Amino acid sequence: MPNAPRLDVVSVSCAFAGRAVVRDVSLTVAPGEVMCLLGPSGCGKTTTLRLIAGIERLSAGAIRVDGRTLADESLHLPPEARGVGLIFQDFALFPHLSVAQNVAFGLAGTRAEKAARVAELLRRVDLKGYDDKAPHMLSGGEQQRVALARALAPRPGVMLMDEPFSGLDNRLRDGIRDETLELLKEEGTAVVLVTHEPEEAMRMADQIALMRDGRIVQQGAPYNIYNAPCDRDAAAFFSDINVITGTVNGALTDTAFGQFLAPGHPDGTEVEIIFRPQHVKIDFDRGGRGPNPTPMDGTPARGVVQRARFMGHESLVEFRMDFNQQVLKATVPGVFLPKPGMPLWLTVRRDRCFVFAR
Ligand code: ATP
Repeated sequence: MPNAPRLDVVSVSCAFAGRAVVRDVSLTVAPGEVMCLLGPSGCGKTTTLRLIAGIERLSAGAIRVDGRTLADESLHLPPEARGVGLIFQDFALFPHLSVAQNVAFGLAGTRAEKAARVAELLRRVDLKGYDDKAPHMLSGGEQQRVALARALAPRPGVMLMDEPFSGLDNRLRDGIRDETLELLKEEGTAVVLVTHEPEEAMRMADQIALMRDGRIVQQGAPYNIYNAPCDRDAAAFFSDINVITGTVNGALTDTAFGQFLAPGHPDGTEVEIIFRPQHVKIDFDRGGRGPNPTPMDGTPARGVVQRARFMGHESLVEFRMDFNQQVLKATVPGVFLPKPGMPLWLTVRRDRCFVFAR
């Protein structure tokens, strides 16, 4: 049987000075599950988190943890009564308290119980022996781990995290991110993580809720959101995209790359066919020297290299296409840096295209 949701956010809305900022947002998060709120700046991610924390008041809907209502239209429990942990980007440890005192700060119980929980957490975040150090003696990564231990100490059922890793340098970040996740999963905590970085969401989330203009426009596992975006903007949020256009005729659209399926679109609909640069293939066998392209790859179309850049583990090549002079991008694994002006033939993975009405 699937886990009952730990956190249940039901049709929550919030407005500031008459302006709707969060609109009809619903989320469920199971114990040990990570839900990422992802979206552009100003789309309402942080406000959603603050509503769950009790820092803002909702105007409609309800928020429940393990079936207990924390907030609805007539109830607003204050943050300290919610049993919800918080970690923000500026995780602000208390500078005048030692590491152990910081972790013990929100703990109830006897001295011995508190000391045991602090010792357990410092061991788990790999800071054994740091008890008496002052926060300013620690690196950014170590401080972040103390903040995590402090937030986890009272065993919150729900942890809310707002861009918690963005202050850390890249090398440190991946390790701390993975360790944090492991610890939260071990503790069975339901996590809501706010980020504007798709890579972070893909790496950390069990579920992604993609937000735009106060609403959740798509929700699902990272794989599904990436491979079946609900619209052009959702596709573009995760990578560069290429867009070609066409008109539907008999559930098909003719393009320079061959025919694309356009099921559900009536004849005459103008559609955009969207594909990511990694799904454009360079057809080196063009000219009768090799096998015909597979049916999946459709018809090759010719373009002229505009520029090529090495990106690390792949190369990004931009082409101006003969058929309408538009620029398309292709990524090629490894080093492939053709000279500008070189003509090449391209095909598109038709099973990886998304077709939307314009
Ligand atoms: P970012 O990634 O930039 O932090 P966000 O998606 O977290 O963005 P929010 O911080 O939730 O966005 O803000 C959503 C909108 O609500 C913004 O337009 C913001 O200016 C507005 N807003 C947030 N808090 C308040 C407030 N207390 N009073 C008035 N407007 C607010």
